[in-house]
Amino acid sequence: MSNLKKLLSSLNIEADYISLRSVYNKTVNISVRNEILEGVTSSEDHGLMIEVMIDGQIAYGATNSFEPSEVLRCALKAKQSALMAKRFGLYQFSEHVRPKVVGEYQGPAARGIEHFIPSELSELLMTLSTAMKIHEHVISRSASFSLTETESHMVATNGSDVLQKIIRSSISLGATAASEKGSQRRTFGDDQSSQSGLERLDSHQLLQASERIANEALALLEAPECPSETLDLLLAPDQMYLQIHESIGHPLELDRILGDERNYAGWSFVKPSDFGTLQYGSKLMNVTFDPTVVGQNASYFADDIGAIATREYLIRDGILERGLGSLESQKRLNLPGVSSQRATSWNRAPIDRMANVNLEPGTSSLEEMLSSIERGVFMQTTRSWSIDDYRNKFQFGCEHGQLIENGKLTTLVKNPNYRGITAPFWNQLKMVGDKNTFQVGGLTNCGKGEPNQVIHVGHASPVCLFSKIEVFGGGK
Ligand SMILES: [Zn+2]
Repeated sequence: MSNLKKLLSSLNIEADYISLRSVYNKTVNISVRNEILEGVTSSEDHGLMIEVMIDGQIAYGATNSFEPSEVLRCALKAKQSALMAKRFGLYQFSEHVRPKVVGEYQGPAARGIEHFIPSELSELLMTLSTAMKIHEHVISRSASFSLTETESHMVATNGSDVLQKIIRSSISLGATAASEKGSQRRTFGDDQSSQSGLERLDSHQLLQASERIANEALALLEAPECPSETLDLLLAPDQMYLQIHESIGHPLELDRILGDERNYAGWSFVKPSDFGTLQYGSKLMNVTFDPTVVGQNASYFADDIGAIATREYLIRDGILERGLGSLESQKRLNLPGVSSQRATSWNRAPIDRMANVNLEPGTSSLEEMLSSIERGVFMQTTRSWSIDDYRNKFQFGCEHGQLIENGKLTTLVKNPNYRGITAPFWNQLKMVGDKNTFQVGGLTNCGKGEPNQVIHVGHASPVCLFSKIEVFGGGK
């Protein structure tokens, strides 16, 4: 019997359900700026979340001690909170929201923190920073790498036992060019966090990326402003990720639709009656919740309450089918959801989150998309974004723009932006790129919940073409 199971069986408490979720996290970071090592940092924590369900209410206690007396104290406190919550309970839950599940997951990463040698990493990042030093106008050059190991083990009185071990890494490169003409920044990697270890570091590819972004930042300084007009808009996967995140992921979170997050993260324009009927986008739009993509940032076997993760369509042929919500939110709304009740650590309660939310590839080649455009802009890499509390009206800025004229990529333009309203925008989706244009990415900074939880998510997308979009220039 594992120590956690022993600990659970030692708790002499009457309740309908008790679970213990132990989470161990270790992170190392290294960063270089302008060929100077900024630092190597390491952090580690380990603790326990205790969940108690009694009389249809669920409450939590958390501790960083694994002493049986302390765990008992926290469990009793959680039980007391659940009993007190009964007076204000929105819903009477049953064991259906805590299914029995047994299984293990191990991410595909090969080389974890034990292989992290600061001197070697420092040398690589220093080389990358130096490679960006191509002109005196490239005034800021940064390169950083981080590696996180997480082990989560959940056991419960219903017999559940889920062990998940995941290593994630991310690399971030940035080059800022500045002159009397302003400043321009190009980045690489911020959207490519994945379940991978040190084996992902391909020095040749990173060197090429460093040189490319430095050259592009410099070229953008000299480029004309993006025109302000209504045009066809071609978006690269590294902009599509955040477009999907903000205008599909967040509005489909069932706790937002319920209003739970209204005070802080916001509400949603999506109504419960929209599921099964709303034409969210054009017929070419297919969006999945997909925890099965090997190595994608938020692939897993089960979420943090033990609901088994399966691939599901959120939007099929443009019609909204399913939300991103836990078994609890699904019961409250009587709507289908997914396995995405997730917590950032042992001291946070799991809430409705995104995990991997992907736009499925279509059938158009990049050449077909380009040649269909008379006048348009191709935009790459998120620079800025803004979206209202209902996740409806939005505005995005990209790092890199290029005009498309009569089917060909032509002039480089700086400060490209576009704006739209979620459903009308997705209904303007005119062509969806094929598998050759499809890329898998991951973000590390999705914030939500009180107290705040910043979690990693995955997004994947092909290149996509939207028709008649309001595009504008300027650093707005
Ligand atoms: Zn987010």
